[in-house]
Amino acid sequence: MSRTTRVDAVVLRTRKFGEIHKSITLLTPQDGLVSAIAYGAQSQKGKLRGLVNPFHHGICYLYTNPVKDQTKITDFDVHDYHSGIRESIDRFYAASLWAEVLLKSYAGGGEARPVYELFLTALAELDRAGGRAAVRRVTAQFLWRYFGLTGSLPELGSCTSCGRSIDEGEVRRFGPFASGVVCNDCAGEDARRLSPGAARYLLATTDRPFGEALSVSLDETALSGLTRFLHSLAEGILEDRLNTLRTGGGIL
Ligand SMILES: [Zn+2]
Repeated sequence: MSRTTRVDAVVLRTRKFGEIHKSITLLTPQDGLVSAIAYGAQSQKGKLRGLVNPFHHGICYLYTNPVKDQTKITDFDVHDYHSGIRESIDRFYAASLWAEVLLKSYAGGGEARPVYELFLTALAELDRAGGRAAVRRVTAQFLWRYFGLTGSLPELGSCTSCGRSIDEGEVRRFGPFASGVVCNDCAGEDARRLSPGAARYLLATTDRPFGEALSVSLDETALSGLTRFLHSLAEGILEDRLNTLRTGGGIL
């Protein structure tokens, strides 16, 4: 028995497979991450050529051969190419960072639909984000909400080292591979700063609808500190370095 299914999907990653094929990882609302082969996707005459690229979203037709335990993409009806993401290196690196976080965390390993919906909402906002600050705000909202969905949000109100509570107006500090924040007394000399404004921003925007949260402004220094904090937190939660930050750290 073999079967064909029709799934809503967004492409997270594509890798060359053989000379003319691609190995694809999809994010789907039912099954989270799904691996499939897109035969001929790199051939001149391949039907899937140009269709199966990162961040393309649409209806994917999958054929699973249960004997070989192999899934292939037979067709992809792309609804949204998110072409704005490919037009700007800032946007492209941001989306690549999110995809790497999703891949390394197995899309959270729990209920996939909320993760899928968050990713699509964030991609749509990123697609039209103008300028680096706007891109950084979308990334901040995506990462913070994703950590919320996966149950890995840190407590910003207390020091992870000594446990004392940190007041709203206090500067928080963090190092590489952060699991949370520390107070000024516990911070090493080279610990970075998360400003009171940046912490307030996170706490104030999380419960708002995504698009509305993006309209909340944050000054450049605070946003820069927040960006570094979220990158450090992502690597701390994943317990792994992120390639996107190694290659695109200066851009992100
Ligand atoms: Zn402390």
